[in-house]
Amino acid sequence: MRYTGPVCKLCRREQNKLFLKGDKCLVKCTLEKRPTPPGAARPQRGKPSAYAIRLREKQKLRRMISMTEKPFKRLVEAAAKSSEASGDHLLRALEMRLDNVVRRMGLATSLKQARQLVLHGHIRVAGRRVNIPSFNVPTGGVVSPDAKCRETVGVKLSLETSKKLNQRPSYIEFNEGELSAKILRAPERAEMSFPVNEQLIIEHYSK
Ligand code: SF4
Repeated sequence: MRYTGPVCKLCRREQNKLFLKGDKCLVKCTLEKRPTPPGAARPQRGKPSAYAIRLREKQKLRRMISMTEKPFKRLVEAAAKSSEASGDHLLRALEMRLDNVVRRMGLATSLKQARQLVLHGHIRVAGRRVNIPSFNVPTGGVVSPDAKCRETVGVKLSLETSKKLNQRPSYIEFNEGELSAKILRAPERAEMSFPVNEQLIIEHYSK
């Protein structure tokens, strides 16, 4: 079931900034004010077990990408069957999801906002409307917003933030005039937006 509670609680649970609120995470972060896990007055004593470490890593990634357990597990299983390194395959599949590409090209500051743009049919891939957030954008694919989307305040603000932060990855070629992005090549590990230990996640499902 999709989580609908306060998202900052998820960051506190994972003890990591998951950047689930877009712009707000940069200026006023709850985790910085309240760094303790929810429900715990004091940090947990003792060393966490190997299982607990793997579980937390998996939850961290799943929450970053806002996926429910079933599709996430399916993705990990597909990665485990692939001929390349399973961890790389998993992260690349997540990185190239249409909602994540929309966020990385700067049209949205959070995945939630990017997903909404896709679900509402504002995003085109190679000129065709695609409203499936999990759509895998291929190398050479061109992602662009429709005319209505370009005029929305949220998108304009996101583009301004993106310009300020200058964090657009180099596997994306951004066209300032069209506000479109071309995927030049597959992303390298250092360019992906998920600071997790992917090996622990693969191990979590293989045990
Ligand atoms: Fe997480 Fe953002 Fe909330 Fe900070 S403000 S706790 S990064 S969702």
